[in-house]
Amino acid sequence: MNFNIAIDGPAGAGKSTIAKRAAKELSFIYVDTGAMYRAIALGLLRKGTDIEDEDVLKAALDNIEVGIRYVDGEQRVYLNGEDVSSQIRTEMVSDMTSRSSAIPMVRAKLTDLQRDLARREDVLMDGRDIGTMILPDADLKIFLTASVETRARRRFLEQEQNGDSCSLEEIEKDIRERDFRDSHRQTAPLRQAEDAVRIDSSDMTIEEVVEEILRLVYERRARRENR
Ligand code: C5P
Repeated sequence: MNFNIAIDGPAGAGKSTIAKRAAKELSFIYVDTGAMYRAIALGLLRKGTDIEDEDVLKAALDNIEVGIRYVDGEQRVYLNGEDVSSQIRTEMVSDMTSRSSAIPMVRAKLTDLQRDLARREDVLMDGRDIGTMILPDADLKIFLTASVETRARRRFLEQEQNGDSCSLEEIEKDIRERDFRDSHRQTAPLRQAEDAVRIDSSDMTIEEVVEEILRLVYERRARRENR
């Protein structure tokens, strides 16, 4: 039987870095659901879609196909067959993603794809609604969070390294706005599942968080085997 891990949490808590490392240690498939929502958002931006207009949005979504493939163990995301993995990481796409992913029609497009992956493989899936909506029976649920200040500082350093200039205040404001939108939307809002383990990574290193997740996985597996 498959072992599925759900990791949810706000933007910038370190989910993808941590999930990627933990999945590698466990030889699980890492599924980055944010990348799927980002690919849809990129498709909508490219078409200049008015997402407030239901008919226009439906027509646009009918012409958007999202796929994922694994190349050397890395998830690549495809928009109508084109590898857009690096183009989905801009601020403009982040902003559109947080708006478009609040729309039920957009979420419905990805639900089956995500559940299907978890049915077929041992997955470590990260997102916002994995433990609450997509995989309510996951073997382990983690809610990974960190203070807004910590998350803004991390993103600031990351952008500095990439040569992008953005002020810390601007990043912090952006994170607060995105948190608010993600957790106050009607459909699949970001919230901790009742049976999720909460990890606050503000004062932890990446290695420490990965260790903690692995410890929880081994504990749950042993419990399952003894049942
Ligand atoms: O995880 P990442 O920051 O790449 O996600 C981008 C955006 O996609 C989030 O801000 C959120 O609005 C949306 N998202 C979502 N549900 C998921 C994953 C991401 O709504 N399962």
